[in-house]
Amino acid sequence: MLDSSLIAIYPGSFDPITNGHLDVIERGGRMVERLVVAVLRNAGKQPLFSVQERIAMLTDAVAHYAHVEVASFDGLLVDFAFERGADVILRGIRAISDYELEWQMALMNRRLRPRIETVFLMAREEYSFLSSHIVKEVAQLGGDVSSMVPPAVNRRLQERFRPTLRSTPTGVK
Ligand code: ADP
Repeated sequence: MLDSSLIAIYPGSFDPITNGHLDVIERGGRMVERLVVAVLRNAGKQPLFSVQERIAMLTDAVAHYAHVEVASFDGLLVDFAFERGADVILRGIRAISDYELEWQMALMNRRLRPRIETVFLMAREEYSFLSSHIVKEVAQLGGDVSSMVPPAVNRRLQERFRPTLRSTPTGVK
């Protein structure tokens, strides 16, 4: 158990939030006093959802946690963490494939701000295959991802990929 007076930042793209992210929020959130889930604004990737949409989905998904807040940032994560008075950067590790990049980022962040510690949570087995990327791919091809993402995310994915199905009333061609 970490010191419960800690503030942690959980950064990511969250494009969109999945149940795997939510599990990290739930488990990581139990160890700290305050958890800031922070959406990276300047990601080089082309996101499916805008920052505003991602924040809306996250805010909805964590609404029942009084000590979890949603924010966004650009620039260096450690600078954002420092500004927010955070002691800990929280990240999730699924497979060995996550390890190398996470290791590199954690060591670089420690070099930049030695007082901020990166803490990793191992993904739960049932979520260890789950990524925003694979969820988007499956949803785009019409697959059911309702057990992998919060309900509001599932709705948005359907609206994004199947707009005609949702906007056509039953029985109308
Ligand atoms: P990034 O673009 O920074 O990888 P993501 O939003 O995909 O951002 O992920 C944020 C963090 O959550 C990363 O540390 C990632 O490894 C972790 N994560 C993503 N999916 C899962 C999952 N299914 N279980 C546990 N951790 C996860």
